[in-house]
Amino acid sequence: MSETYEILALKYATHANRTRFDNFMSADDHASPQPIDYFVWVIRNSNRTLLVDTGFDHAEAKLRSRTLDLEPQEILRRVGVDAGKVETVIISHLHYDHAGTLDQYGKAKFHIQEAEMAYATGPCMCEDAMRKPFTVDHVCSLVKKVYSGRVMFHDGDGEVAPGITVHKTGGHSKGLQSVRVMTANGPVVLASDATHLYENIDRRKPFSITVDVEETLKTYTRLERLAGGNRARVVPGHDPLVLKRFPAWKPETQGTVHRLDLPAKMG
Ligand SMILES: [Zn+2]
Ligand SMILES: [Zn+2]
Repeated sequence: MSETYEILALKYATHANRTRFDNFMSADDHASPQPIDYFVWVIRNSNRTLLVDTGFDHAEAKLRSRTLDLEPQEILRRVGVDAGKVETVIISHLHYDHAGTLDQYGKAKFHIQEAEMAYATGPCMCEDAMRKPFTVDHVCSLVKKVYSGRVMFHDGDGEVAPGITVHKTGGHSKGLQSVRVMTANGPVVLASDATHLYENIDRRKPFSITVDVEETLKTYTRLERLAGGNRARVVPGHDPLVLKRFPAWKPETQGTVHRLDLPAKMG
């Protein structure tokens, strides 16, 4: 039998001053406010602890006018995870809000799709519109880790640990990957930015930053399949509703740390 895991969503930042124009590429009521949250995710059981994405720090938050509640390492400490001891980090993609602070993880190996590294270091980055969501220092930091043998590349589907697999779910970025985790409640899919909000996948409305619409729409179907057909087990990467639908880890972490391996109340 496969191993099962606890999954924690750790909210570390928000972007409150945001409208639906920023979140959907299709025609919509663009003027209405629609804030988003920023997360990193911890996957753990008695055998191992993994991290999905590393978030961004104070300097990056200031640069991009985001509100940082806590640096990701700080919030990790609150759930008993020491960034310096984490051995496995899965990077969903290299956008600034998912791949900062890499040097804090001195013992880690980093799992990423080949296509994402090729995209973030290739000719598309000559175009301002394409490179906007990337921060060159983050990308360079990961390139250095390639040269020190600390990057594990995947091409499509790959196993990271028993019961934990990565799946290429491109569309938003070229080599985006989502993470499927076995839990006592069935397979849970950490979609990351394969769907920022529930509304992106539920109404088949791609996010404003999309490099391939066709791939994005195929990805929505794939995410549902990976979750065993249960939409409640597909977790969007930036939706404030995640903290309403899944229970808090502890009463005092309401709104900050929530359990994704427990059933969601979809409402
Ligand atoms: Zn992204
Ligand atoms: Zn993102």
